[in-house]
Amino acid sequence: MTAAPNPFLAIAAPGIAGLQPYLPGKPISELERELGITGSIKLASNENPLGPGRLARAAVEAALGELGRYPDGGGFELRAALARKHGVGPEAITLGNGSNDVLDLIARTFLQPGIESVFSEHAFAVYPIATQAVGATARVAPALDYGHDLDALADLVNSQTRVLWVANPNNPTGTWLPADRLYAFLADLPLTCVAVVDEAYTDYVEEPDFPDASRWVGEFPNLIVTRTFAKVHGLAALRVGYGISDPRVADLLNRVRQPFNVNSLAQAAALAALDDAEHVAASVALNRSGMAQLRAGCEALGLGFIPSVGNFLTIDLGRPAAAIYQGLLREGCITRPVANYGLPNHLRVTIGLAEENARFLGALGRVLAA
Ligand SMILES: *Cc1c(COP(=O)(O)O)cnc(C)c1O
Repeated sequence: MTAAPNPFLAIAAPGIAGLQPYLPGKPISELERELGITGSIKLASNENPLGPGRLARAAVEAALGELGRYPDGGGFELRAALARKHGVGPEAITLGNGSNDVLDLIARTFLQPGIESVFSEHAFAVYPIATQAVGATARVAPALDYGHDLDALADLVNSQTRVLWVANPNNPTGTWLPADRLYAFLADLPLTCVAVVDEAYTDYVEEPDFPDASRWVGEFPNLIVTRTFAKVHGLAALRVGYGISDPRVADLLNRVRQPFNVNSLAQAAALAALDDAEHVAASVALNRSGMAQLRAGCEALGLGFIPSVGNFLTIDLGRPAAAIYQGLLREGCITRPVANYGLPNHLRVTIGLAEENARFLGALGRVLAA
């Protein structure tokens, strides 16, 4: 079935015609409606299988009484707490409706038609979408061992480049850059190019030479580090993330930002989550054992995978993943095909609870054998 051409494209902003919408993981409710089944599991969107911690849940309940009022548009308390955490002033923090919102603010602030952004092959899908949506041009560097090739990225930066996007660790590959190499790369970037280091999965990484790039924003005025409460803090539904940057960059992002982009429940939950080191530690420990479980399960099935430091594993099925993904859906397991990331034979699986991981591995074995 081919849809009729959309007449409104002729009056849409430049870039919209070439836009491919983001493909989210299938919601459990949708799968169960389609197949008439119950009890499915979702390991598709890198959510924390434990959900939020006790402190964040209590903060949401306590904030319910004020739902009739607009949230604090300046995010005073949350920005102050984030500033303390990162050793910067509150004016260095830009709050977002999820960190994707911050990525979009960056694109709208610095990109336009005739201007370029740079990212890597297998990079997070929001970078091409945010670039294309404002009519700018994406330059894509080939990957090296599925990860970022910093020399190839640097080669694409020219006088027209305003934004360079690097996720560390990267999604969907789980690859990562050590502190010394990322630091040297950022030091060489021209100040006419903003560098975005997207640290959505940083809390899961236990490698000793993994950097906290937020420590470098005082040194690199063109650096924006983004973080989210959607992953280890288990608050994906509430949509809250932030950027850390030079205050002069944050000033521009905050001019573009919608005044009430982060709702009051999200602000309260995020503030409480920052104090919940216990929940973060429990989530990281669960991820560590679940990662070992999934890796061992893949090895037992004779499958390769991209070694990952995140809360997901991207498995090489050695054949097109689309049919395996469909077979897993029929088993009630939602995973994430990554053909749109240039990885048609891979399937990305979020580390779940031990029983979810076991159920996925059992289903995968059956589907592969069918
Ligand atoms: C999940 C993810 C985010 C977080 O997005 P939110 O909008 O905060 O939910 C950002 N960057 C990458 C690379 C991610 O995988």
